[in-house]
Formats: sequence, structure tokens, C-alpha cells
Amino acid sequence: MKHDDLQDLLREVASGLGLRRAFSMVVSRVTRLMECDVCSLFILDAEDNSLQLVANHGYEIGEVRDIVIPPNEGVVGTVVRRAEPLNLADVRQHPSYYDVASVNEEDFPRFLAVPLIEYGQVLGVLVAQSATRSFTEDDAGSLTLLATGLAPHIAHALATKELDLHTVRATQLEQRQFKGYAGSPGIAIGTAVLRQPDAQLELVPFRQIESEGIEAALTDFDQALEVVRSDITAGKERMQDALGPEELALFDAYLHMLDDEALPLEVRDAIREDLLWSQTAVKRVFTKHIRDIERSENHYLAERGQDLRDLAQSILAAMQPRTDTIRDIPPDTILVAHEITASMLSEVHSEHLIGFAALAGSMNSHATILARALNLPAVIGAKDIPLAELDNTPIIVDGFTGEVIVNPSPATLERFRNLAESEQTFQVELETIRDLPCETLDGHRINIWVNIGLGSEISRSLDRGAEGIGLFRTEVPFAVRSRFPTEEEQRQIYREHMDAFNPQPVTMRTLDIGGDKDLPYFKIEEDNPFLGWRGIRVTLDHPDIFLQQIRAMFKANAGLEGVLRIMLPMVSNLEEIRVAKRLIDQAFQEIKDEGVTDAKEPQVGVLVEVPSLIFLRQKLINMVDFLAIGTNDLTQYMLAASRTNPRVAEQYQEFDPAMLIALRMLAKTAHEARKPIGICGELAGSVEGAVLCIGMGYDVLSMNATNIPRVKWVVRNITLTNCRRIVARVLRMSNANDTLNYIREQLAGAGLDRALSRHKPYELFL
Ligand code: PEP
Ligand code: MG
Repeated sequence: MKHDDLQDLLREVASGLGLRRAFSMVVSRVTRLMECDVCSLFILDAEDNSLQLVANHGYEIGEVRDIVIPPNEGVVGTVVRRAEPLNLADVRQHPSYYDVASVNEEDFPRFLAVPLIEYGQVLGVLVAQSATRSFTEDDAGSLTLLATGLAPHIAHALATKELDLHTVRATQLEQRQFKGYAGSPGIAIGTAVLRQPDAQLELVPFRQIESEGIEAALTDFDQALEVVRSDITAGKERMQDALGPEELALFDAYLHMLDDEALPLEVRDAIREDLLWSQTAVKRVFTKHIRDIERSENHYLAERGQDLRDLAQSILAAMQPRTDTIRDIPPDTILVAHEITASMLSEVHSEHLIGFAALAGSMNSHATILARALNLPAVIGAKDIPLAELDNTPIIVDGFTGEVIVNPSPATLERFRNLAESEQTFQVELETIRDLPCETLDGHRINIWVNIGLGSEISRSLDRGAEGIGLFRTEVPFAVRSRFPTEEEQRQIYREHMDAFNPQPVTMRTLDIGGDKDLPYFKIEEDNPFLGWRGIRVTLDHPDIFLQQIRAMFKANAGLEGVLRIMLPMVSNLEEIRVAKRLIDQAFQEIKDEGVTDAKEPQVGVLVEVPSLIFLRQKLINMVDFLAIGTNDLTQYMLAASRTNPRVAEQYQEFDPAMLIALRMLAKTAHEARKPIGICGELAGSVEGAVLCIGMGYDVLSMNATNIPRVKWVVRNITLTNCRRIVARVLRMSNANDTLNYIREQLAGAGLDRALSRHKPYELFL
């Protein structure tokens, strides 16, 4: 089979022609392309533990669905058990040969079968058979490639019940569970309210107008634009009390895209010059920009593409006769949609809205940012939720684990109500320790600081007992704008944080873009972005951006008691530190020359995220005032497993023995040099990780605000001696699971397992 034929075939499968039709097409196309006689597709029915023939080309049989093979009996069953291809010259000779009475299989002895595997699970088997032609290694390779391409579609169809192996089974009222990402923490138990866009960009036809129609088309567009602008402004006003200035700025970013000089200008040109119907012009202009943005394969930018789609669809909806888009929102509404947009959230914002679930979206999408600011539990990226069936259905959204449960059974409902309730009780207990020191039972003091990005998180962080800022992700205020913030704008944002935390220290990380976090207005297109132009590499190549940011930091800190700590991200060699320090000195001199006399010398530290620094640690420690470990990136670079790829989630283990040894070595080096060392990756915010970090001697644990009370509670109920004993033990273990299980047992033994929630920490950029 030629590579191009294979790709064409997979493209057709993905084109949405319906799974059953896609299966028929695959089996008939394979027989033609591989010049064989029969092709069959079997799918494993996990419930009945049987293999069902769902498509066939070549057998003289009637209803293929009648054929069911027990997987432990047939040759096909052998492929399932061994999860590897089988190429036989004569299938009849195989010890597991299973004679299916209704099929003339003996006429096609040449047999090639490959398993369909997704995430390590065998889902089915694809079989090619021939009367005379033996299959080659090339054939086996092609069929395996085809199976690899088919498997995700089958997994999706099985999960959504689009492919129901038991047609008679009533699925509507059955409890079903779907997996997504934990977008915003909390548990919401309510009723799904489905929200579909009122217009769809893709469905607008190509239509042209006569030149006499230009004026009318322009008016049509301008009126729609006005409606959308005033809807956005009204949405912003509705949210005024619920959101901080940073989140409200998202609405301004939308309005900015609709500035007369921006996209509307192009739409008007398309109407005037190409004589396009107003809706066609909107489609053309917006689609072009969306494609440009999405082509970058960058998560953050893809989200901005979604913003544009949202805007375009709002304009199109405003050009159509207006239906009543704002429905009554019943109590306990959980909004479900393909993608929740910021405009949708502001439209339905009311006390009745208790959470949301979406098929698409990411940690960076505006709606997810808003959900966190509004304390609404949210699951995003639950790609298998059967949207169309969900309206008015009971649903649970677990924003701790990323689960969505549709039609929960009474037992599940009970379990989640209990979970929500005990979570609530524990939270109330946690509030009582808010102002108490973060100190172990044997008097060892730990600094518990917050990872922050948006101004609206300040009060939440202080409320939860944050004693300083351990990581200010400065790229976040950059990312919610449509251009670089000016030095003065930066100064104000930084000052707001420093004022709020004064006299506690504030650790400002210099701009950390690249990888999966780009700015919408500063595109970085690379094949391998995590190994590319990231963090300090970008800012050292752009000293203008770096210097401006450092100057803003100095000015923001001027006159305050709190220590300014400047932290450099993605450092991979010592030269980068030397150059960055020189620029920091230069910025300091510059602002003094400008007359800012009350600025203080900062502490300069490095965020250890690249493994090279572990080997350079002795020299490194002499160049800095402090170290912090970014375990999120350090894990991915140490173990060569991307932090954003669910396929390698098994390999991405923060508790891997290699990680623990590295963390121990770094802590030891810092202590010998009498310099402080902290952790500000997700590890510090997990109870298990915090226990290890304390035992290893870390001085600072910095985490998202949500986790602070829980971690502090554990610190206050454990001894340093116990933490050290746990560390000594796990350093001898050879895998992450043993380590985690051991820590959990120890915590349970000490009566602290209540803190071991199912809670997965979240961050803005995951
Ligand atoms: C880290 O990599 O651990 C870190 C703290 O930085 P970020 O998650 O923002 O990349
Ligand atoms: Mg990082």
C-alpha cells in the first residue's frame, strides 16, 4: 500500500462520514490497495469479552454483526492477547485456528492481522486474507500504520457510544464517565444546559452581490458590529463585580480586535472590492486570520484563534434574525458546550451557574481563566462528551480530577455529595490555620509562598495564607493583552502585587515565553518549541524587552520594604546568568540616572529547569543569591517526556528516582553555600511532594493558592524528623509508584490522609 493512499484513506475516515461507513470503506479499500481477497475489522467488546466483526469485505456472508469470536479461541484472539501482528502463510495450521461455521475462511489461508491499539489498550484487530498472495513485511508495516491511524477514532466512538456494540442496550439513562482536564477546582452537581453557537462560520455560503448592494451590505455589517460591541461591553459590565481588572481586560482585548482599523477594515474592503455578501466577507476575513493563528500549532495562539471564531460567530448571529439567545438559567446549571467562550460565560453569568464542561479548550483559554477567577468548577478538553444528548441531563463536573459524569447513578451521586461535603468541612477547618505559622511539630519553619499570574489572585492568595510570592509568572499579564505592556503598565501591575505582599518577598520571574506559551502578538514558530527559543533565550536575544521589564520591577519595588527577587527561567548555561546579571546592573544604573533614588539592589536567582544545571551546581550557586527548582519543566527535560502530552503521562513522573536524587543534590549544594533554595513546580503543591521537599531541606515551598492551606495543614501535623526518615527511605526506591505509595502509607499512618485529596493541582500554563 502506498503511503499517499494510506494517508488519503485516513483523511477520509477523519472527515466525519460516520463510523460504520468509514469501516466499510476501510475494508473494501484495503482489499483493493493490498491486492488481497478479504479484509475484516474486529472490535473487542470489553464487557462481553468477545470480538465482534464490525466490517468485512470479501466473505460471502450476510449480516456481519452476527459474527462474534471469543478472544481466547481464534487466531484473531491470539493477536489481541499478544498485542502484536501475525503474518501466516496458512492460517489453518495455527493452533488457535477457530472455524467460524458461517464463513468460507478456509478459502483464504494467507493471513495478516494487526492489533488496533490506543493508549496501550487493544481495541480490536484488522485482518487481511488472501487465497494465494503471501503478505510481505511491507504489507504488515502498512496495515500497522493504518491500524494506528484508525485506533483513536475507534476509541472515541466507543467512549461516546457512537459505536455501540450492543444496539439494544439503552444508553440514554446509563451513567457515563468522561475524562478531561481539571480546568478549575471544585465539584459541581447539577443539570447540563447545552449551549451551541447561534451561527457557524463554516456554514456561511459563498455569495456575491451587485455593486448597487454594496452600501446595504456595509450597513448590515456595521449594524452587526455595533450589536456585538455593545454585547461585549454589557457582558463586561455584568461581570464588573465578580472579576478583577486583569480578567476584565480580556473583554477589552475582544473590543480591540473589533477596532475599526483592525479586522472590520478588511471586511469592508472585501465587501467593496470583491463584491462579497456581508456574511461571506466576514467568513473570508476571519477564517484567514484564524488559519494563520492556528497554523502555528501553539496552544496559546490556538486559543486566540478560538476567540476570533467566537467574535465572527457573534457578528454572523447579529446579522441573522435575533433568536432569544439568553435562555433562562435554571438553578444548578452546568454549562456544556463544544468550547466555552468568555462571551458565553458573561452571557449566562448568574448565581445559578455552578460549573462548566467543554470538549475543547485549554488552561490558557479565557473562559478557563474566568472560571478560576469566579471559583466555578470546570473541566475542559473532555473530548468524548456526547454533546447533543446532554441538554437537561443530570451531570457532575469534578474540577479536581477532570472527570465529567453524565446521568450519575444514585450511588455515584451519594459519593460525590459526600466528597463535596467532606471537602467543604476540611476547607472550613483549614481556614482556622490561615494565620498560624507554617511550622512542623518539632518547630522547623517552612516558607509557604504562592505562584501567581493574575492580579485577581492576590486577595485569594493572601486569604489562603501565602507568606510571599515564590513565582510571579510575568508572562500572564503579557498574554492577556493584545500588545506588549509598556514599562509603566508593567510597573503598575508589579506594584499592585508588591504592595499587597509588602513586606514579604516577591519573586519576579523574567518573561518566560516559548514552548507552549507564546504571546498572541509575538509569534514563535518552531518544530520543537520546548527545545527551542524559550525563557531567558528569548529575552537575552531581546535585551530591550528584558531591560524594560527589569526597570519596571525596580520602579515597582522602590520605597517598599519587601525584597525584590529576580528569577531567571530556562537557564541552561552559566553564561546566560552572567549576561542577565550584567543587564540587571545596567537597568539598575539606568533608573538611578532617571532619578529613582529609593530602588534597592535585588536578589538574583535561577529557576532550575534544565538538567545541565544539576551538573554545574557548584559553580551555579556561587553566581546567585538563591535557587528555585521548576519541577514541571525539570521533569520533562530530565525524563524526555513532554508535560503536555497525555501519551507520555506515564513517563512524566515528578517522583521518579532520578528527579529525587537531583532535588536532593541541589538542596545539599545550596545549604553548604548557605543560600536559600525553594521549589515552585507542581511538586511543592502536592502533599506527597511537600513532605519530601521538607525532608530534603528545602526552605521555600511555592504553589498555587488553592493548595496552600492543605499543604500547611500537613506541615503543621508532621515532624521534620519524620520527613527526613521518609526521604531516606524513598531515595532507595527504584520507581515513582513505590515512592508515592510509601509516602501515602506514611501519611495515613500519621492520620494525615485527609489531606491526600484526589485533587490535581492546576496552573495557568500546563
Ligand atoms: C516549572 O517549570 O516548574 C515552573 C515553575 O515554571 P512553569 O510551570 O511556568 O513553566
Ligand atoms: Mg517552567
